[in-house]
Amino acid sequence: DAAGWQRACELVAAARRITVLTGAGISTGSGIPDFRGPNGVWTRDPQAQRLSDIDSYRADPEVRRAAWRSRAQHPAWGAEPGPAHRAFIELADSGRLRALLTQNIDELHQRAGLDPELVLELHGSMFGTVCLDCGEGGTMRAALRRVAEGEPDPSCEGCGGILKSATVSFGQALDPEVVRSGQRAAMDCELFLSAGTSLTVHPAAGFAELAARAGADLIVCNAEPTPYDDRAAAVLRGNLDEVLPRLLAVPTVPNSRP
Ligand code: NAD
Ligand code: ZN
Repeated sequence: DAAGWQRACELVAAARRITVLTGAGISTGSGIPDFRGPNGVWTRDPQAQRLSDIDSYRADPEVRRAAWRSRAQHPAWGAEPGPAHRAFIELADSGRLRALLTQNIDELHQRAGLDPELVLELHGSMFGTVCLDCGEGGTMRAALRRVAEGEPDPSCEGCGGILKSATVSFGQALDPEVVRSGQRAAMDCELFLSAGTSLTVHPAAGFAELAARAGADLIVCNAEPTPYDDRAAAVLRGNLDEVLPRLLAVPTVPNSRP
């Protein structure tokens, strides 16, 4: 509504340190479906969640083969950043983007031109691989070449261990250093902006909690309700490709807060 928009624009204009949290909803406009939205991958096929479970991935070669097939066909390979990704560039240029925490694994924030130093990939990146046994990293491109050349479940070339995308599956811990940086950014901002996430996956959603407790104002931009809407200073529904460019294009008021 109009009051929400006015409040949100005032908060953005006044804040000197803004920490952003993004989720799958920021990339649906680029053709990458989310998981839990009305058209989400898991909404349509609850079984698909099995491919994201670390125990079944370790235990079942058929799960791994299916995972490699779906990685090869992932819509992110052909996706381009859109207006929602680009909306953060100006904010970063103004020096007020403290950090952008993302649950996305598609690298579209960086490809939109955002300084990679400002991006914290909470759930990793689908363009890397990691060995579950020795930790050796590699590129997804190289692994998928091996799949295409007849290895449906390629193993680590160093130790023979199980290879996986460098993303965080259910049952896997987040990178503690990334989490700590995210916590610092959440506690060290005047405004916490959540965009395109259902705020249901922990610990990612916990950053909003942390920011609110540290005294930051909260803005939630999402098509559907989230558990944090009640605590938000403003809730903006609607398509992020329109909402974010409009919200973040507001001119700033220098030093309007002590
Ligand atoms: P989610 O699927 O739980 O929530 C996405 C939210 O975005 C939904 O509430 C939906 O209503 C909203 N949304 C979708 N399109 C929108 C639009 N155009 N405008 C406004 N709102 C829109 O996603 P999540 O909370 O990010 O968690 C999903 C998990 O799956 C994450 O952990 C992430 O790692 C992974 N994931 C990543 C990608 C990606 O990298 N693009 C895609 C799917 C899932
Ligand atoms: Zn290995």
